[in-house]
This record gives sequence, structure tokens and C-alpha cells, in this order.
Amino acid sequence: MIVGEAFQGRTVAVFGLARSGLSSVRALKAGRAEVFAWDDKESYRDAAREAGAKIVPWTEWPWDRLGALVLSPGVPLTHPKPHEVVERAREWDVEVIGDIEIFARNMSAAPVIAITGTNGKSTTTALIGHILKEAGYDAQVGGNIGQPVLDLSPPTARTIYVIEISSYQIDLSPGLTPDVSLLTNITPDHIDRHGSLEGYAAVKRRLLSQTKKTGLNVVGVDDTLCAAIFTQLSANGGPPCVAVSVGKVLGRGIFVLDGLLYNAQSDRAAKVMDLNAATHLPGSHNWQNAALAYAAVKPYVSDARVLTEAIVSFPGLAHRIEEVGRIGKVRFINDSKATNADAAERALVCFDDIYWIIGGRPKAGGIASLEPHFPRVRKAYLIGEASDAFAATLTGKVEFQSCGTLDAAVTAAAADASLSKAEAPVVLLSPACASFDQFSDFEQRGDAFRAAVSNLASEVA
Ligand code: ADP
Repeated sequence: MIVGEAFQGRTVAVFGLARSGLSSVRALKAGRAEVFAWDDKESYRDAAREAGAKIVPWTEWPWDRLGALVLSPGVPLTHPKPHEVVERAREWDVEVIGDIEIFARNMSAAPVIAITGTNGKSTTTALIGHILKEAGYDAQVGGNIGQPVLDLSPPTARTIYVIEISSYQIDLSPGLTPDVSLLTNITPDHIDRHGSLEGYAAVKRRLLSQTKKTGLNVVGVDDTLCAAIFTQLSANGGPPCVAVSVGKVLGRGIFVLDGLLYNAQSDRAAKVMDLNAATHLPGSHNWQNAALAYAAVKPYVSDARVLTEAIVSFPGLAHRIEEVGRIGKVRFINDSKATNADAAERALVCFDDIYWIIGGRPKAGGIASLEPHFPRVRKAYLIGEASDAFAATLTGKVEFQSCGTLDAAVTAAAADASLSKAEAPVVLLSPACASFDQFSDFEQRGDAFRAAVSNLASEVA
């Protein structure tokens, strides 16, 4: 655990006591702060009480002596409108921060690599952690991925913190000054929480503007918003900024062409490696993640062989184009993490002869943008709330069946795929929707897919 000593002797309030909130309570108590806490959910309150917090409704907190309000990233700070607890904090001039800010204020020694962007954050974060571990570092990986930052181990001489940070968390971390900040890409998502695409991009840019002057920024420049951010940062006299592209030759930067990774940071472009060898990083989106990770770890890993071999040996992350089974010639791919059309597109381009399970709680725009990939889809299997809307989009273009549940969809898709003439048919769960109508989160949805596949496999055996 990282101790929140920076708040010693002060009174701090924590609102929202799920994972990161509870972890904040523990770190603040260990740092000998007085902690008030509240969550609408009783079970969360009990855990915080056990951790030493005073459980008092936020309306009754001693606002006149609060040094800070630690807010869970799930609680609206600005859009669609600030939560009342945030408004109260503003009235009393109490600063509003998150767990990553507590981490930042207690961390001076070890390097921090921070990763943000719309898509690819977790993959890039995990890959960076993997490469650093292979290179002999004590890579502590946390934040939006996996462990809350304050649950990570205190630094040793070989520690590098690798932190995935969402836009909500950036808003709450004004004092985080990463040694390397990495921005993967920006596409419309979560606009409801940031007001506009420009507002969302501005939050992402803010993280990179907080990077240490002696540090490094790494930006994927393949979308217009990130390209503009790269230009602004490069012109601002801040830390060096490395551009990363998939598909474009860069005069200066890191780029990937047909899977070949090139480093053109000095005078001439030098070929680094063939990313096709990294079997758990399929698709051009993963080439972007690999190239970004390469750029971010380069200052820390001088042995080029160690670095490239670590990219090849990356085991991949669950729920992201993850093969979870094979029955006869049919492969089953779990891409439950694809909660929007843009992410699902990344999976569709990786396969031919797709039996595609889609649906859940739809996002704005639905799947209309995926039409160019419909020719790869042999049949679609619709689940959840999005079924009617997606049926309307698919009518006349792709054969489909409304299945209701994921289990029914897996059974139907597996049967059709096994009868197909294709050599390597794929049953793909890449739902382009949030999971909340039928599951608690995308992990539970992906686990349910895995379980359905394994049931089918045991029936066949
Ligand atoms: P995040 O943590 O930002 O949500 P993940 O690495 O978990 O990112 O990937 C989420 C989804 O986005 C996956 O379904 C994947 O197929 C897709 N994806 C991953 N990397 C990229 C990328 N660089 N560009 C676009 N989509 C991506």
C-alpha cells in the first residue's frame, strides 16, 4: 500500500467507497488523516468503517475544516451536471481530487508512465508493464486497469509505476506529473460526461501538459484530434513529444507499415521488428498499441532484443480478441470489451467468415458505421436491448437472428458456423454495446461467453 502521508493530521472526506474509494480511505488512515466517508450503498460503508473512516452522510460532514474531498471517478464532476457533493465542496472552497492525486502527492522517487485515450489503454498499459518486467523492472501496474494505484507497492530502486488513467480520473488528478504520458487515440465516447468532443479532448491533453519537463509525451497521431494535440504540444516547448502512426510514414517518430515497426526518431527510419510475430496483438489497432508501448518504454529499456522479444511474448488481455475455445474448425473469440462500434470494428477486420454476436445496451450511432465490414459477416446474432435497432440496421444487408440471451446466441452461432463451408469460421462476441442491460460489466459478459463455449465443447466431446 502507498501511504497518504501528505494528508497527515488533516481532515479529508471520501465520497464513493467502491474499490478506489476504499483504497483511498486505507491510504489516508495509514497516513494518519481524519477521514469522513459516505456511499449510498451500505455494504461499501461497512468496509470503509472497518478501515477506520467515520461514516457520516455528506450533508453532515464538517465542511468548514475539510482539507479535500476525494471523489470516486464514477461520480459526475462536471457533466451532465455536478453531483451535489461537488457543488457543496465548491461552496466551501474544498478541493476535489481522486485517488491518483493522493498517489501523486506521496510519490516523488519512482518514474510514472501514465496511459490515456479512448481505446487501447488497457492493452497498452499491460504491454508496457510486461515489457518492463521482462527488462528486470519492478513494474507496478494499476489505476483504471486492475488495482487502484494506492494499493500498489511502495517504490524500490527498480520500480516504475504504469498507470492507466481515464478522463474522469485526469479531471481529479491535477498534481500528477508523469515521466511519460501516452495518448492512444480519441474518438467519440463518454461525451455525456465531458459535454463535447472538444471538452473530452481537452481533458486528455491536460494529462500530457502535466508531464515533467524532463519527461516524454507519446501520441498516436492517426485521428484528427490527437494529431492536433501533437502539433500543439510540439509547439509549446514542453517535453519531447513522439508521434506514433499505423499506416503513415513519419519523417520523425515511430510508425508501422504492414506490421513492420519502424523507428524514425533519429535521422533515418530503422526497421525494429515484425509485429505479425506478436500473435496476441492481432490487428492494426494492436500495432498501434505496440508502437505506442515501444515508444514509451524505449527510454528505460536499452537492450533492443529484450524489448522486441517482450512484445512478442505478451500474453494478451482477457476479453479483447481473446480466443477462448475451438470446436472442430470453429474458433470462438471473446471481444466483450468492445463496448462501442469503433472497438468492434477492430475485431471485424481481423477475421473472415464471422458469426457475429452483437447487442446489449446500445451507444449513440449504433452499428451503422460498421457497414463496410458487413460482407465479412455470414450471420449476426442479436442480444439485449439493442436487438430491434440493430435489426433495422442489418435488414437487407446481413442475415440475422434475434436470440435474446447470450447463451442462445452462442448455441445458434456455433451450430451455423460448424455447418459452414468456410475453412476457418469464427464465432465472435464483439457486441459494440455496453453490457449493463444483462450483465454487471463486460468481464461478466465475457466470462459468460467463455462458460457457454466450454459447455458446448463438453457436450460435443
Ligand atoms: P481501453 O482500456 O481503452 O478500453 P482496451 O485495450 O481494453 O482499451 O481495448 C478496448 C477495445 O478497443 C477492445 O475491444 C479492442 O478491440 C479495441 N482497441 C484496442 N486497442 C485499440 C486501438 N489502439 N484503437 C482502436 N481500438 C482499439
